[in-house]
Amino acid sequence: MTTADITRPEFDLPEPLLRIGGARVAAADGATYTSADPATGEVVAEIAAAGRADVDAAVHSAREQFEHGEWSRTSGAERGRALNRLAVLIEANAETLAALEAVEMGKLYRDSVNGDIPCAAEVFRHFAGWADKISGSTVSLPNFGPQNRFGYTVRQPLGVVAAITPWNNPALIAAWKLAPALAAGNTVVIKPAEDASLSTLRLAELAATAGIPDGVLNVVTGLGAVAGAALASHSGVDKVSFTGSAAVGQSIQSFAGTSFRKLVLELGGKAPQLIFDDADLDAAMPWIAMGNFYHQGQVCAAGTRVLAHESVVDRVVDGLVAAAENAVVGNPFDDRSTMGTIVNAKQLARVNGYIASGISEGAQLVCGGIREQETGFYAQPTVFRGTNDHTIARDEIFGPVATVISFRTTEEAIAIANDTKYGLNAMVYSQNISRVHSVVEKLRVGTVWVNGWGVPDPALPWGGRAGSGIGRELGRSGLDGDTEEKTVHIGFDGL
Ligand code: NAD
Repeated sequence: MTTADITRPEFDLPEPLLRIGGARVAAADGATYTSADPATGEVVAEIAAAGRADVDAAVHSAREQFEHGEWSRTSGAERGRALNRLAVLIEANAETLAALEAVEMGKLYRDSVNGDIPCAAEVFRHFAGWADKISGSTVSLPNFGPQNRFGYTVRQPLGVVAAITPWNNPALIAAWKLAPALAAGNTVVIKPAEDASLSTLRLAELAATAGIPDGVLNVVTGLGAVAGAALASHSGVDKVSFTGSAAVGQSIQSFAGTSFRKLVLELGGKAPQLIFDDADLDAAMPWIAMGNFYHQGQVCAAGTRVLAHESVVDRVVDGLVAAAENAVVGNPFDDRSTMGTIVNAKQLARVNGYIASGISEGAQLVCGGIREQETGFYAQPTVFRGTNDHTIARDEIFGPVATVISFRTTEEAIAIANDTKYGLNAMVYSQNISRVHSVVEKLRVGTVWVNGWGVPDPALPWGGRAGSGIGRELGRSGLDGDTEEKTVHIGFDGL
């Protein structure tokens, strides 16, 4: 197929500038970075690259709005109405938002327009519903000497939240951070990833149209080591919410450690999919394959350690091979494609490096492998049979590379599943409810999907353990993480 066969929807670019206090501005030193289409190499935009001075200005603007502006003082119901208006605008602009993601980082346009973008709207809608229901508790207390006492708690916004997001689901992960923070009355400075900044800039434009006041949502596009580091270490922020790699998460934790600010780290994963002998394989196989190949495996929750009982392992391998061989790897805007591109040359080299390591370490390559290079950063869906000791089973590859590992007993499956530095999520496939419950209980992860795989739901907490991070976002826990609980003791004289 040629690019001439492909029809892209019409879309316009947001202004590729920083958004500080409602103004669209270039970086103070004029710096920019280039965003390029990973399918064609064409330049998409030259985007303002914030430096320390720009980050400082954005944090100052967010602080000013928080301390002296209307957002934190307006009623929760009013904030909820604004977030609902934003949800409607996101839906109305779904095609543009999805096209920006496809053109910048190679996600299938179809998956973004039908998946990420409507889900992002739902996240805003969910937290809009919470905005006027943020409450504390009341507690009756024993007398203190002659004094009667009564206690209560209130939940108040934190102040300025710094949000740093990755490139793989930019609008959706921005929504995970923005929606609860804004619902609770905080102001935000967000730094999107340099490989996918434009949908976040468009989101901020839509937020302004929705009536969210200037200074509430500030965007500092820029390089991680410059703008990201300046934001994460800024003394003027009250919380850092970071989603990205474990290596960067560790450096952010070291900044936060000296400053006592709140910190959420949503890091990588290497999730096991445990497939027992009583699984309904016909129903399970599409989920198992999707957990490996959806978005070219560039998903934190990807289930690339496929642990299959020895009695079903051959069928699981066959099912994955069929899915890999039927995949149509191609331009993200082409309706025929079922997989788009890897985000950039560096990430593709990393994926191919892991495929080479699987082969050199003696894992059995069942299908796929390193793809002949052409225009565009395309990877081949690849299936190995291996062990949990192979590097391909230990490291997060962030590419479409499955390692199938056979097990004999339930205990062995649990031991392999937990033998990892990560702890984000796991999938369990079984028709036996007792087995499901006991396996779920023993898995050291933040989330378990049973008989399926999918997107975190805004109503349920999401986050990892161990090398997958600390803290939770989404759900009630996520909202609580964007507020500070204040305890009040009232002393009063009895009648
Ligand atoms: P990354 O860590 O390279 O970058 C993430 C963000 O951090 C980007 O905005 C980047 O510019 C910024 N950054 C880079 N260096 C920085 C520094 N020194 N200080 C502050 N910020 C800095 O990650 P990525 O390649 O964009 O994303 C892929 C990773 O994200 C994978 O490991 C994936 O598993 C993880 N991820 C996790 C979740 C989750 O919910 N747990 C979701 C999506 C992605």
